[in-house]
Amino acid sequence: MRVDVLIIGAGPIGGYLATKLVDSGLDVLMIEEHEEVGRPFQCAGLVTPDAMSKVGLESSILSSVWGARIHSPKGTCVEVGEEGEIRTHVVCRKLFDEGVVRQALAKGANLWLDSQPVEAVVTNSLVSVTVNKSGEKRVIEAALLCGADGAHSWVRRYFKMGNPKELMIGFQSEIVGYAGAPGRLDMFTGEEVAPGLFAWAIPSGRGWRVGVWSRPKDMKGRSSEQLYEALITHPRWKERFAGAHEVARYCGPLPCGIISKPVKQRIALFGDAVGLCKPTTGGGIGKGFDQIDAMAEGLISAVKSDKLSESNLKRVAKPLKAMKKEQKRARILRDLFLTDCDDEKLEDTFTIFSKPEVLSLINEFGEIEKPVALGIKMLKEVPEFRRMAVGATWALLRGE
Ligand SMILES: Cc1cc2nc3c(=O)[nH]c(=O)nc-3n(C[C@H](O)[C@H](O)[C@H](O)COP(=O)(O)OP(=O)(O)OC[C@H]3O[C@@H](n4cnc5c(N)ncnc54)[C@H](O)[C@@H]3O)c2cc1C
Repeated sequence: MRVDVLIIGAGPIGGYLATKLVDSGLDVLMIEEHEEVGRPFQCAGLVTPDAMSKVGLESSILSSVWGARIHSPKGTCVEVGEEGEIRTHVVCRKLFDEGVVRQALAKGANLWLDSQPVEAVVTNSLVSVTVNKSGEKRVIEAALLCGADGAHSWVRRYFKMGNPKELMIGFQSEIVGYAGAPGRLDMFTGEEVAPGLFAWAIPSGRGWRVGVWSRPKDMKGRSSEQLYEALITHPRWKERFAGAHEVARYCGPLPCGIISKPVKQRIALFGDAVGLCKPTTGGGIGKGFDQIDAMAEGLISAVKSDKLSESNLKRVAKPLKAMKKEQKRARILRDLFLTDCDDEKLEDTFTIFSKPEVLSLINEFGEIEKPVALGIKMLKEVPEFRRMAVGATWALLRGE
């Protein structure tokens, strides 16, 4: 069998990529290892209005969030957001993923379920991939092979394209009966419950998604599940969980750090496979869509003219350089305000965040997709933060 583009992985990124490619007349096949799209999923389901506008899948929205209550380790609460000003949607990932993949199928892409690549060979004229399709070996020849196969990407590993700088572990449960504030998510910080990052409670329609993410090196031998237990039994928060019961739990990786080789001859990686998750929130869907929007035109013309050498694909992937720089700047700011801070330091930061003038800065410039702008603004305009900037500013401004 011969196609123009073979995409491994029919998640949101594989589906969105397939739609773009097939729309321009390319022949596209997606292969998905599971027997259905969108299961299992490990995600809080936050999709920004900008990302949602690209796929128009409002029917998958379970709730929308306009604000956050951010809790310091000792209980200072900073409340951000303006009621009615939607910051993010919370989706049913099953419906969302299915919706994105259906759009590709409706335009003419093909999908094989219960299928995985087992080996691949790249020649000057094509990529030949052997696929195990429900136990039967099939060979697919393609001009281009795309890996949209998630955090542990087979394509990335098979072709030795590098590893994301950080691989966080996320653990989440779905609960009902949490005493939260409608329309607002809760974020919890501190060594006991979320060392280096944060835990969350997100309204998801009739229930809540409660989770925690962390870098393995900050966990000091604890599992994500133990951190989650520490949150729900914490003397300061346990009241909120008193009437709650769990309906599901899952754990998954978050790759935050674009890899060094996102493309090779006739191969390109997308979404989690390339390490696109945001180091500040872990969100990967919006960034994955952005990557595709930025690369689609170049990719389509490269396939049509069969200019798929590594050097040509590097040109196509050039927008990733700016995304990598932005990711790095976000990481520097995250480390400065959160990850490299002990509980005492975090407490000081929260005291500053609580000041009315700082809160209005956060409300005016805080955007989930663009944390760097707010971080730099705070370093420049909040006197108490200026001294923190001394070491960081150079690196940030020079985009190192
Ligand atoms: C706890 C947690 C919470 C998160 N919360 C959010 C959030 O709120 N918002 C957000 O934007 N992001 C969030 N993320 C990240 C988000 O889930 C990913 O960024 C997003 O799913 C990436 O999409 P993708 O299509 O690149 O990869 P995936 O969604 O992982 O899809 C990859 C697809 O490829 C398939 N596949 C994998 N390997 C193979 C193979 N060898 N052969 C065939 N098929 C294969 C998989 O089955 C899957 O269908 C969260 C992640 C975790 C772990």
